[in-house]
Amino acid sequence: MSDNEDTKLITGGRRKEWTHGIVNPPVYRASTCLFDSYAQLRERVANPTAKHLFYGRKGTPTQWALEEALTDLEGADGTMLFPSGIAAVTTSILALVKAGDHVLITDNAYEPTRTFSNGMLKAMNIEAEYYDPTIGAGIAELLRPNTSVILTESPGSLTFEVQDIPAIVAAAKEKNVYVITDNTWATPLFFKPLEHDVDISVEACTKYIGGHSDAMIGSASAKGKAWRKLSRTAYQMGHMVSADDAFLTSRGLRTLGIRLKAHEENALKIAAWLKERPEVASVIHPAFEECPGHEIWARDFSGSSGLFSIVLKGGDYPDTAAMVDDMRLFKMGFSWGGFESLILPSDPTTSRTAVKWSAPGPLLRLHIGLEDTDDLIADLEAGLTRYSRHIGA
Ligand SMILES: *Cc1c(COP(=O)(O)O)cnc(C)c1O
Repeated sequence: MSDNEDTKLITGGRRKEWTHGIVNPPVYRASTCLFDSYAQLRERVANPTAKHLFYGRKGTPTQWALEEALTDLEGADGTMLFPSGIAAVTTSILALVKAGDHVLITDNAYEPTRTFSNGMLKAMNIEAEYYDPTIGAGIAELLRPNTSVILTESPGSLTFEVQDIPAIVAAAKEKNVYVITDNTWATPLFFKPLEHDVDISVEACTKYIGGHSDAMIGSASAKGKAWRKLSRTAYQMGHMVSADDAFLTSRGLRTLGIRLKAHEENALKIAAWLKERPEVASVIHPAFEECPGHEIWARDFSGSSGLFSIVLKGGDYPDTAAMVDDMRLFKMGFSWGGFESLILPSDPTTSRTAVKWSAPGPLLRLHIGLEDTDDLIADLEAGLTRYSRHIGA
């Protein structure tokens, strides 16, 4: 019998042989693992993918428990863990390409994904071409005989366009092209890429899955041939996350369901409030109609998380500084997905090449945390007042 999602979050990976009866799989820190006999060593060498103690880089029950829980949530054949989300993205791409290939990267991809594609992929003679995130079935026209991978990220970083992943997958399958989805915004609770025949689903677990802004970790889950390539490549590249960070992430996973619902509810309330403000030109939130791809979000996703952007009217750098420098609760910093609210002024202009970004004013990315929404609204209200006063002064 297969349990429902909230139950899976609680029970995932807690095998008795790994926990020895303790509720949470404990932290097993390891480099060397000791064999009982030469025969045992030979047996373990002969079964490289089995979950038995071999060497720290192959993980211990702490990492295996998290891998198993994520594999089950994603509906995958297996999951590899990485020391960061970006290591999960880049290794997933590397697993599926060879020199001379062409890869398609969504124009709203997380910026370090672009940096990797323009740097390391180019050095390996792999051409990265950026495409309009709203392209949908039109991706077929960009496929070349040497195209090996389409990287999707939905909704994308900063500007939140929602991609038609089923249409992209259909075009890709026609030509035997692999599809990777960076699913960090939705987590496997709100969207399951592998159910739509995506080959690799990547999560920056640093964000919601860890959920407490205290661990760097990424995961990549896959099925079939893509899983075999991914697991081989990740191991060859020496990727493994520390047992401590895997433990924190398993612990975060237990409350992901209720946290995400609370982030969703708080963010919807604040986005609706912002939409009515005179200083705000637009609210870019997948659950709002004006977000590009909103209808795809409504069709394919089962919820929205706490991260979205707003575009302000008029104003420039000093006006934005007057707002963000004096926020009481919305702190400024990279990353997101923890329990705390964050505000980040960003300029997508420099990281878009397929579709030019233009807006009537500065863009602010907001992460809505688990604080009281009246307190958060009061903080934003004071900030927006500082912004408009500064423009007027
Ligand atoms: C943060 C982020 C990553 C990278 O995760 P790190 O753990 O910071 O390396 C990848 N993709 C998206 C969409 C992200 O927001």
